[in-house]
Amino acid sequence: MPEGHTVHRTANHFNEVFGGKVLEVISPQGRFSAGAAQIDGLKLIEAWAVGKQMFLNFENDLTLRIHLGIYGKWNFAKFKEVVPEPVGQVRVRFIVGNQFADLRGPTACDLITTQEALVLAKQLGPDPLNPDSDSSQESRFVQKITTSKRAIGLLLMDQSVVAGIGNVYRAELLFRARLDPYALGSMFPESVIRGIWHDAETLMKVGVATGIMITRDELLDALPAKVDRYFVYKREGLPCRVCGTEVSIALMASRKLYWCTKCQTPPATAAKIET
Ligand SMILES: [Zn+2]
Repeated sequence: MPEGHTVHRTANHFNEVFGGKVLEVISPQGRFSAGAAQIDGLKLIEAWAVGKQMFLNFENDLTLRIHLGIYGKWNFAKFKEVVPEPVGQVRVRFIVGNQFADLRGPTACDLITTQEALVLAKQLGPDPLNPDSDSSQESRFVQKITTSKRAIGLLLMDQSVVAGIGNVYRAELLFRARLDPYALGSMFPESVIRGIWHDAETLMKVGVATGIMITRDELLDALPAKVDRYFVYKREGLPCRVCGTEVSIALMASRKLYWCTKCQTPPATAAKIET
């Protein structure tokens, strides 16, 4: 499943290629024919994202909500004269000029009113990639974490606590802050959780700009395509880059968790919980 930075990249691409233009919208597979008919021939006002969900606002106050889920995929391409025949199960195809976008296998592809989309977006957690002027998103994040009796490793994966963080960023953010994933949210001082929020903003912006998740600062400028970019993610059994201890792996809420048991410690006086 893509993490939030990928969804924001897709929304940016939609705005660049399709924004403000009248789109041809079809459902080659047929499963979205009725929906496509309601937005075909209309102008796309704006594409936006919250966490892992993308929203396309059309000029008739309808919004297409898309969540790729595990199997969903986008394909963007240009063509010369005739748009190519769809390959496979294309749920929706968007065409403008000589460019098209094909959407396959999304978990959600629903046409709702723009008002409903705004209500839905508010129910999602704060998104480090959606800047706000009054830091209200950061405050919501801090409040949700520091009042919770759940493990911070679980909280960072909960889309109602923070939208857009997935397994890679979860593991790397906790390592960068040297935090024990099993320590409870309420054990942490606000300043530590604010630090996590700002680090998430920084890392995910790099993800949006480059399309690559890079979490080791010494690699940020080089943006290497293929190099081990992470501190702990998928490095179980290998020596920790900081202390040399073998990186650990465990299942937390049925997702793989990677961390260094020596570097990542609970706040003082913390008691661990079992998950
Ligand atoms: Zn270590």
